[in-house]
Amino acid sequence: NNQITLEVRIVNYGSGLRLLLAQDVTQVKKMERMRKDFVANVSHELRTPLTVLKGYLETLQDMDDGGSALLTGSLEQMRGQTERMQHLVDDLLMLTRLETQQRRTVCVDVPALLKQICNERGVVENLAGRIELSLASDANIHGDEQELRSAFTNLVGNALKYSPADSVVKVRWFEDGGTVVLEVQDRGVGIAPEDIPRVTERFYRAESNHARKTPGTGLGLAIVKHVLMRHDARLHIISELGKGSCFSCHFPLHRLCD
Ligand code: ADP
Repeated sequence: NNQITLEVRIVNYGSGLRLLLAQDVTQVKKMERMRKDFVANVSHELRTPLTVLKGYLETLQDMDDGGSALLTGSLEQMRGQTERMQHLVDDLLMLTRLETQQRRTVCVDVPALLKQICNERGVVENLAGRIELSLASDANIHGDEQELRSAFTNLVGNALKYSPADSVVKVRWFEDGGTVVLEVQDRGVGIAPEDIPRVTERFYRAESNHARKTPGTGLGLAIVKHVLMRHDARLHIISELGKGSCFSCHFPLHRLCD
């Protein structure tokens, strides 16, 4: 209990002159742990009531005979908002998991995973034809399948969400020099230059591209960033307002497996 945490830095001034800086970060680390525990507990506790609430709302919707437009509209609103809260809680739990849990590393068949993700979106949301998948590489990656699924789903989901209903989203898996790359490209609303460095922050939703009109939690790209960091991969974003965006994930070769 009396342990303290020190953060040590060595600053090199040249000519053999070095300065050792030690800072007591015990309180900072303690607060960080408390924040993580708090978010994890609250998210976990909210999960069950939300599921129950959504169940009752669906029952009420089944019973609704459509006699009152106000009632029908209100029930639909309530169900939509409950689903939104469920997404938020799921995203918060995913972030907590990324910060606190060990990875379950296996050899992930990325081409199969991408096919699954694109098919699911296509079938569930009737988007067949909107997603163009190109698998130029059969490379597999050492990693946590659930985490990679979550990151890739977020990128494909965003590309669909932030582009017109009749435009195509291109998903490509290919080798490029010393890396294997997943690229997700859309012809959608795009992101303003000043927003690009901030979109991976938690809860950040760009104003410039009217993204706020689209439902979302602002946590998807924070999840993507964490997942990629845990897989030694880098995220590149190229985007132009009104033209579209290209998100690419670059995996180093030492992550490849057979
Ligand atoms: P959410 O989509 O839930 O708001 P994200 O963390 O996934 O949260 O994205 C953060 C913000 O980045 C979005 O609100 C939006 O402004 C911007 N963004 C993400 N993906 C795209 C995209 N493909 N096209 C345009 N803007 C995007």
